[in-house]
Amino acid sequence: MIFQKTKGIHIDGRKSMSKHLPMEEYFNPQFVYIHLLKNIGPLKPVVEVGTVVKVGQIVAVREGFGEMNVHSSISGTVTAIKKVWHSSGKMVDALEIQNDFQNTPDDSIQPNKNADSLSRQQLIDLMKHAGLTGAGGAGFPTYVKYITKQKIDTVIINAVECEPYLTCDYSFIIEHPEKLLKGLKYFIKAADAQKGVIVYKNYNKQIKEKLMAHIRNYSNIELLEVKDVYPAGWEKYIIERVTGKTYDGLPSEIGVIVNNSTTAIIFADVVEHNIPLISRPITITGEGIKEPRNFVVPIGTKVSDLVQKCGGYSENITPTEAYYIAGGPMTGKAILIDDLIVNDTLGAVIVKPVVNKLHPECLGCGKCADVCPVYLTPTEIKKALESKDNKLMEQLGADKCIMCGLCSYVCPSHVEITDAVVKAKDTIRNLKKVVK
Ligand code: SF4
Ligand code: SF4
Repeated sequence: MIFQKTKGIHIDGRKSMSKHLPMEEYFNPQFVYIHLLKNIGPLKPVVEVGTVVKVGQIVAVREGFGEMNVHSSISGTVTAIKKVWHSSGKMVDALEIQNDFQNTPDDSIQPNKNADSLSRQQLIDLMKHAGLTGAGGAGFPTYVKYITKQKIDTVIINAVECEPYLTCDYSFIIEHPEKLLKGLKYFIKAADAQKGVIVYKNYNKQIKEKLMAHIRNYSNIELLEVKDVYPAGWEKYIIERVTGKTYDGLPSEIGVIVNNSTTAIIFADVVEHNIPLISRPITITGEGIKEPRNFVVPIGTKVSDLVQKCGGYSENITPTEAYYIAGGPMTGKAILIDDLIVNDTLGAVIVKPVVNKLHPECLGCGKCADVCPVYLTPTEIKKALESKDNKLMEQLGADKCIMCGLCSYVCPSHVEITDAVVKAKDTIRNLKKVVK
């Protein structure tokens, strides 16, 4: 795709519900559920029902492409393998682990006194052993980006947190500014890159203040502000702002690797303390939550436990009158129950009252096309989808959709226009796979 300067619009962030709140730790759920599924495919358990496990002990592995470890986030006993909800909207197998509340660490969790002298390969091996994945949504194994044969010049940290309502990345940075810089320092070394750039939205002055207090110790790290528009957190948008370049396939083609800020903070603990990926920040918020909050929680925590920690649901709704968004409202997945489990990519659960959509017909106003950052015409794509015209869907560029959700967000008639474009995109991609 020929790069065009990305459009973007200012949207109501609704972040004030939780942005001012500190990050709270909640490390003692009675049970956690470790999904036996990652973005790249299923995992094989290496423990059985009845096995006693420690915090950070390997409990499942993925073999073949994207091989990696998955660890217990608490100490206790494996009590079952059962189906639980995943943020993808599917039920998947998970290891149920009952907490013994002893918080016994695995022997591998030890301070690393030689962190600064680790080689590039040792840092990549640590990412792999720790099961480090992208915290920003995709959940791809981080080390895979670093074994590229391309020459990398710049590692970019995405601290934009573009989605409305979400404040967990912001709060995590405010709590751990130096860890963010350290994590980036180790990423730069793991990529054999020249420099690092941390990109954040211009209204987050506190991020700048916090990082500036430490940045003098990191001569090859810079900060860059981007405008308060959506989708300023889109990878192509950020890379274009930092380098002035764009690319077709992967950022490494132009010498760039991008990681999320939360991934970098977690990586600092991986390198310096050998703590694998066992916890993550999450925002529980929305008009349906009594007291929105930001938490750091063990991976595998039940969202319903966190809702209780937030004082439960707002008085005006009950769980059956609410709907839940796993992730942000623009790109997340709507679900109808609070049985969801926190996984490595889940940065927020937003609870909102169910709204009856009274006028689902398209008004032909064209707003969806006006805002599309990749210049698509969503209504034409929807029509092509409805008439099963695969060729037209392709001609209209449905596969270029970045699934940002802006077209649905601006639609005055609440047409599920993003869903239609994403279905068209999937149709084209599946057809291409069949042709191959
Ligand atoms: S914004 Fe909604 S109503 Fe307007 S053209 Fe697009 S789909 Fe139709
Ligand atoms: S979801 Fe796709 S079609 Fe809709 S605005 Fe975003 S890129 Fe355009």
